[in-house]
Amino acid sequence: MPDSSPPTVCPYSKGCPLYPMFSMESVLHMWMALYCEADFSRCERYLLRTSGAQVPPSMMPNGKNLSDYPGIKTGK
Ligand code: SF4
Repeated sequence: MPDSSPPTVCPYSKGCPLYPMFSMESVLHMWMALYCEADFSRCERYLLRTSGAQVPPSMMPNGKNLSDYPGIKTGK
């Protein structure tokens, strides 16, 4: 019987351009646990991409820019 439950992991999680921006895996995993593997329907990146709009690479799931978090080390 096919699984009809809604997906719990974001369909864009494979190759999400945000992932390589983090140099610390623990920080990335925290964001993933909050959005990508939980409630991705509230991710601003997901919503923009689903609407067909361009998604700034450094936009965080909450809509802020990665540069708004100077404590987060980036991979780029
Ligand atoms: S950051 Fe947003 S768009 Fe990217 S995988 Fe996570 S939930 Fe999906």
